[in-house]
Amino acid sequence: MTDQTPWSPGSELPPLERADEPRPTLRPVTSPDDVLGPYRGTPIETLLLAQNLGVEFEFSGEPQLVVATCIDPRIDLRLPPGSAFIIRTAGVNLKDEALFQFGFLTSVMGLRHVALIAHEDCAMTRLHDKRQTFVDRLVERTGCDARSAGLYFDDHVDFWNVPDAITVVRDHAENIRRGGGVVVAPLFYSLREGRLLQIE
Ligand SMILES: [Zn+2]
Repeated sequence: MTDQTPWSPGSELPPLERADEPRPTLRPVTSPDDVLGPYRGTPIETLLLAQNLGVEFEFSGEPQLVVATCIDPRIDLRLPPGSAFIIRTAGVNLKDEALFQFGFLTSVMGLRHVALIAHEDCAMTRLHDKRQTFVDRLVERTGCDARSAGLYFDDHVDFWNVPDAITVVRDHAENIRRGGGVVVAPLFYSLREGRLLQIE
């Protein structure tokens, strides 16, 4: 069963881990033949081949790709300089301000290719478990009271929590595809290998 309601800016993300959908599959790219059909001949293929196979590309001078990924500094993308707009938010959070930036790039700026890149060991997963550490350190650093720090955390935790890094970008991709007009690749960055895997 698929919800066919068209995506619109500000619309709710679908619930994660829908019972009727299998877990996403991660498809590696170890040769150009591994690039999935919809990404071939696009800036997404350029990213995959540059990142995983070290293929060097001439930059056309016109940025053609939007990349949305996490703020984690361990994500080291090997893109030709100047070839992509990069939106970095904790946990690849594409809501509110980030969603507006994204919408701007795909409308006013006319970008038609998008890579959404999750990664392993994201600090924004299981965020609720980090409440005590957050409160203790905020109190220690700023001198605020623990109650205020706790309330501040509670106000923001659901917005920033990442239930599952892979399903979050897969669901973002699904929502963006519903709007039509853009090719979207949900990808997963392996910290150990510095390589990208395609999420299917
Ligand atoms: Zn992260």
